[in-house]
Amino acid sequence: MGTKFDRYRVREGDKVDLCEIDADDNSAFDGGKEAATAKLDEVRDDIAVLQERLYAEDKHKVLVVLQAMDTAGKDSTIRDVFKETSPNGVHTFAFGRPSTEELAHDYLWRTHQHTPGSGQIHIFNRSHYEDVLVVRVNELVPEKTWKRRYEHISNFEQMLADEGTTILKFFLNISRDEQRERLQERVDLREKNWKFDPGDLPVRARWNDYMSAYEDAIEKTSTEQAPWFVIPANRRWYRKLAVAEIVSEALRDLDPRFPPPAAGIEGLVIE
Ligand code: AMP
Ligand code: MG
Repeated sequence: MGTKFDRYRVREGDKVDLCEIDADDNSAFDGGKEAATAKLDEVRDDIAVLQERLYAEDKHKVLVVLQAMDTAGKDSTIRDVFKETSPNGVHTFAFGRPSTEELAHDYLWRTHQHTPGSGQIHIFNRSHYEDVLVVRVNELVPEKTWKRRYEHISNFEQMLADEGTTILKFFLNISRDEQRERLQERVDLREKNWKFDPGDLPVRARWNDYMSAYEDAIEKTSTEQAPWFVIPANRRWYRKLAVAEIVSEALRDLDPRFPPPAAGIEGLVIE
């Protein structure tokens, strides 16, 4: 890993203090919004080329996990970063409130069903991390139950990595003020009304509890095999570019290659 955006990677043993981290930071890119948008176009093209090779090679599996407070831009990040890729090999899965059937199983059951197979990139819009976030903050299970989950999650992700999955986890970090502005826009703008969920307000009211839950989750589960990246997300253009650069670099590291041509193909003339 070698891009400037690697500064957002959380290493094993790092302390994470989300109040101290600047959600407006744009220090990994020398240039403003316009330059970043042009750069994003390039990086997206790189991702598309690499993704086609990954799909053709049918060997590597890639899992991208996105977590964030409401309005931080999970959906638009998925759209913007993977815009040029083929829907044949890129799938997104959103995890909302669990169904009765999901609740009847262990909490990893529903996400495990959707981990990627060879040649595939799967994106989780929310994930098994909700089971140590909203579940912890809202006390949906006793403390001793959520407390032991960090270890399960680390073991689960280690297992996926051992079996050939590349894992990248992103926390899109917006400030509480920025969220206020974005929620207000959802109220004020007709074309954004559909995004407004009154249920987001009680979540916002517990902001500090969520930040503590995120800090613990990130500190306890960021590993070499399944790193977290805490992405400054107050500036939309910067957040997109940061995630795109990190994804592109990870794909490049995998060095996916087109498989060798079928035997006897050379010089073959189709009648
Ligand atoms: P959204 O992503 O905005 O459509 O909202 C999905 C909602 O589902 C969020 O409020 C999440 O906190 C909630 N959610 C996701 N996973 C769980 C879970 N395991 N238990 C309870 N609520 C969850
Ligand atoms: Mg929502």
